[in-house]
Amino acid sequence: MRFLSKHILLIIVASLYFCACATTGPGGKKSLIIIPTSQEVAIGSGMAEEVARTEKTLADSVWQNYLNEVGQRIVLVSDRKDIKYHFTVIESDQINAFAAPGGYVYFYTGLLREMNSEAEMAAVMAHEISHVVARHGIKRVQQALGVQLAYALVFGGDDAGAAVNAGIGLGMGLLFAGYSRGAEREADQYGIHYMIKAGYDPAGAIDMFETLGRLGGERSGNVFEKLVSSHPETQERIANTKSQISKRQPLPKHLSLGKEKYQLMLKRLPPKHDGN
Ligand SMILES: [Zn+2]
Repeated sequence: MRFLSKHILLIIVASLYFCACATTGPGGKKSLIIIPTSQEVAIGSGMAEEVARTEKTLADSVWQNYLNEVGQRIVLVSDRKDIKYHFTVIESDQINAFAAPGGYVYFYTGLLREMNSEAEMAAVMAHEISHVVARHGIKRVQQALGVQLAYALVFGGDDAGAAVNAGIGLGMGLLFAGYSRGAEREADQYGIHYMIKAGYDPAGAIDMFETLGRLGGERSGNVFEKLVSSHPETQERIANTKSQISKRQPLPKHLSLGKEKYQLMLKRLPPKHDGN
């Protein structure tokens, strides 16, 4: 009870202090975010250092620039432009992508190899950016931090450094745990909205779910994001996407799949480590 009242008090004080309602989705959707953006970025940047230590960045500037271009194209039409986004290709056979708080987005070559068009990659990109827009990562850190450290993150003071470090540790742990189904649904929904706004054919999202659905089961272990999920879940995501697209008719003209460019880019990817 004491914890609860302190926690509520912190939220009330912080929301008054910072007017902490942030836009966290399309249509001016708002959420109460008490951790300031500067601290969210500090936590994301610490997580990025951790990722750089443990994963191998792909040594191909053409691919890095390409991923960045697609990422920035979606950021431009998104509801969050108050931070600098960083897009990185990791050389690893894992079929995965993930976003850390503060705009740090990662794609594995294992996933890129399975995609067939730029629109498929853009669908995953829009999904990841949506997690950042919706503050899914930092919201979970906020919930898990405990009152004292959350207080230090919001108001600064002697514990602020320790609080950022605790946030980095929690953030990494939570990446492995995956988001809730509700958060995933939200990221799927915002993602479709953003990819269409950025000029991509949303058919790419259905192709992407079908591709990942085919890969589900056999290689679903060791993932940050549950992109490769069970069959019923994938079917549900495809059905939701189709229904969302049907509500958006007529779609804007000249939406692209970007198949040819992507096929050229596929040829530049390094071979799989297991040689298959
Ligand atoms: Zn997700």
